[in-house]
Amino acid sequence: MDFSLSDQQERYREGIREVCAKFPNAYWRALDAEKRYPEKFVLALSDGGWLSVLIPTEYGGAGLGIVEACIVLEEINASGGNGAACHAQMYTMGALLRHGTESQKRRYLPEIAAGRLRLQSMAVTEPEAGSDTSRIATFARKEGDGYVVNGQKVFTSRLQHSDLLLLLARTRRTDEVARKTDGLSLFLIDLRLAGSAIEVRPIETMVNHETNALFMTDLHLPADALVGDEGAGFRQVLDGLNAERILIASESIGDARWFVEQSVKYARERVVFGQPIGANQGVQFPIARAFMRAQAASLMRWQAAARFDAGKPCGAEANMAKLLASEAAWEAAEMAMTTYGGSGMAVETGIERKFREARLYLVAPVTNNLVTAYVAEHVLGLPRSYGTGGSG
Ligand SMILES: Cc1cc2nc3c(=O)[nH]c(=O)nc-3n(C[C@H](O)[C@H](O)[C@H](O)COP(=O)(O)OP(=O)(O)OC[C@H]3O[C@@H](n4cnc5c(N)ncnc54)[C@H](O)[C@@H]3O)c2cc1C
Repeated sequence: MDFSLSDQQERYREGIREVCAKFPNAYWRALDAEKRYPEKFVLALSDGGWLSVLIPTEYGGAGLGIVEACIVLEEINASGGNGAACHAQMYTMGALLRHGTESQKRRYLPEIAAGRLRLQSMAVTEPEAGSDTSRIATFARKEGDGYVVNGQKVFTSRLQHSDLLLLLARTRRTDEVARKTDGLSLFLIDLRLAGSAIEVRPIETMVNHETNALFMTDLHLPADALVGDEGAGFRQVLDGLNAERILIASESIGDARWFVEQSVKYARERVVFGQPIGANQGVQFPIARAFMRAQAASLMRWQAAARFDAGKPCGAEANMAKLLASEAAWEAAEMAMTTYGGSGMAVETGIERKFREARLYLVAPVTNNLVTAYVAEHVLGLPRSYGTGGSG
């Protein structure tokens, strides 16, 4: 039982570190101020093949495991950057890989692997459904050979920097199915062909994270836009969640590392009352504790990643890693803000930017309350705490 990385994986880490070093705090700070997309950074990653880690070699990808994908995202965030700009390009294609037809895979995966096509937008959340995905109302009606979609999504991220969109929609109404999670289907939409059938309204948030409300009106889709089996979309989305949780945990661990590293440096250099502030236990203990929390979360993340790569069930570990890592990052963010005193709030240091960015993962892609409910019910066997009330 040894969670240390192999020499090859360490070299891989060095490689992504070198790319990230070309995009320092000043780069991210300028983008944040103007709410711009890190296009140059994402291009550098695509060109270097860093986003095609999980695509098998037969479709032009690197054919590596989730461990390597974790390394990439952790290093991006540990360098002071923000993997959220492009993380979904790594894993959204998983739905296609696992459930798509051979012809869909041949058509899209090599283009995604080469970075010529971006599939980094996924629309699940709806304003009225919230965390209860089974309540989504966007409907794809069968018409002729294809489908016609009507409905509304909210918080659909990176849509304006994506060529393709993965959409979850109902294909049968809740009153027509045995379980409310039945009758949902996944569709791959070519946004370049959607025209005015999709209206996009950007949502301004506290982070530089391009996210949008979508309004779909009579959006016509061909039959081969369907991914996997009609009606099995909920199950298919769930299949991809473990990868997403493990990878997002890795970003949080990268964030925590960055906060700790910056704080150690600052606490050594900043002299108040004639000594470095780091000589005070009141300052050094929170740094040490934040470091330990992140290390513990990292072990859970590697446990989840190792099981994922071995093809073993890892839902519990992936969920726990996501919660522990996002909380470790948030504790580290708080700690760094305190360590820096007033300077933590100065935009120049980057602390307040990363503080805002680290906060997101307590909520997205799933809230930590829902993760806790999952562990209570599915790991500990406690009664289900939600979804027992309403009808349908
Ligand atoms: C910047 C950003 C980017 C996002 N990107 C995407 C994206 O690309 N695609 C996408 O589909 N979605 C995206 N989301 C949506 C995100 O996944 C949701 O915000 C999240 O899942 C929570 O849903 P909600 O906001 O509707 O909260 P709600 O479900 O309304 O929950 C509100 C609060 O109530 C709590 N709560 C609800 N039910 C329970 C319960 N039974 N027990 C205990 N607590 C409960 C929640 O934990 C939360 O704290 C994004 C969100 C943000 C902010």
